[in-house]
Amino acid sequence: MNLERLKRMKVNIIGAGPAGLYFAILMKKMNPANEIEIFERDGPDDTFGWGIVFSDRTFSYLKNADQESYEDFIHACETWDDVVIGHKDQKIRISGNKFSGIARIVFLNILHKRCQRLGVRINFRTNIMDVAGLTDCDLLVGADGANSIVREKYRAFFQPTLDLRRNKYIWLGTHQLFDGLTLTFREDAAGLYVAHSYRFNKNTSTFIVECIEDTWDKAGFSAKTEQETCRYLEKVFEAELAGNALLTNNFVKWFNFLMVKNQRWYHEHVVLLGDALHTAHFSIGSGTKLALEDAIALAHSFQLRKDTSSALQDFQKTRKPIVDELQAAAFESLVWLENVKNDIHLDPLPFAYKVMTRSKKVNYERLKKRDPKFIAAYESAVR
Ligand SMILES: Cc1cc2nc3c(=O)[nH]c(=O)nc-3n(C[C@H](O)[C@H](O)[C@H](O)COP(=O)(O)OP(=O)(O)OC[C@H]3O[C@@H](n4cnc5c(N)ncnc54)[C@H](O)[C@@H]3O)c2cc1C
Repeated sequence: MNLERLKRMKVNIIGAGPAGLYFAILMKKMNPANEIEIFERDGPDDTFGWGIVFSDRTFSYLKNADQESYEDFIHACETWDDVVIGHKDQKIRISGNKFSGIARIVFLNILHKRCQRLGVRINFRTNIMDVAGLTDCDLLVGADGANSIVREKYRAFFQPTLDLRRNKYIWLGTHQLFDGLTLTFREDAAGLYVAHSYRFNKNTSTFIVECIEDTWDKAGFSAKTEQETCRYLEKVFEAELAGNALLTNNFVKWFNFLMVKNQRWYHEHVVLLGDALHTAHFSIGSGTKLALEDAIALAHSFQLRKDTSSALQDFQKTRKPIVDELQAAAFESLVWLENVKNDIHLDPLPFAYKVMTRSKKVNYERLKKRDPKFIAAYESAVR
């Protein structure tokens, strides 16, 4: 494909999640003559999940890429400083951690609006069953999430590793407000549960519950309805929820986390982006950030390189080491949560220290800088 052709690109994108939408925005901004079309199986107001959290309050990486959507995100976000660890009926608060929370649907609607203003065509309620029908273009982007059909179609080239992890999780909401990224550990007769909760607007929090399969079996969740599941978990987390119900939307199933990696990131003029390419466990709140950064990196490669093939090469070469490092940290966090029973005997302060350092991205020095009072309390507890 030569430079002449790339002056005006025809780009087909499967999936209007954060990766596909943000890449479309950047490519259209790069050249308004680019013809960008997105194919999305859901409608504009359907989404899974509740709020998402970003482990960064500034969104600095988005500011330079697209000022307009950046301003909209900043206005729609809730921000806080603390991680809160609930264990043995105590709450340990660790300050100096900067987080932002936003409803996933609000986040997507900001990107939809921006796409529409720029002239990106989004075909909602269009479920792509056969990728072959969309390959007649300069670039085909598989931004179709963790269960990508684009990745599946070119499986032999991408060489994915798909690792379905052991823990079960369910993504719920509640009107109880959690002012911090709160991890609560609770046991009942069936076993141990972990809740990941945080406020993402003025009156709602995300409430994700995970547990090992044995606990899930013993609690009998496979035979429980949505409502029965919520009532059961409300009892487990009675103290944290303070009488507030657990709420469901259209993402009410229990899942096992799918860890996705790919040996190769592109094949001819087909490239993967976001969760289709790599997943990062939700406990480190980075999947969306990775998807957006992928979009920025890929658009940047197209700005630098003269043809599709060298742009895609450049994308994989520059981006993969960064993604590998973050996936490694997310994996440490996931494995620690799968084996949390090994540390559950610890008292609240040493336990909180374990939680904070589980991904190995945060160490003693960093914690001391963030919250010297927490480290002082931890040291006197373990002395
Ligand atoms: C429980 C849970 C909590 C999470 N919490 C956070 C968090 O707090 N912070 C964070 O940063 N990340 C979080 N994530 C991760 C985050 O949701 C993903 O990393 C992010 O959505 C990836 O964006 P994406 O655009 O790559 O894929 P997706 O958001 O999955 O979007 C893919 C899109 O493709 C569409 N699609 C799929 N197949 C087809 C098809 N055949 N035809 C047409 N359209 C199709 C889908 O409908 C979807 O809209 C969480 C994930 C989970 C599971």
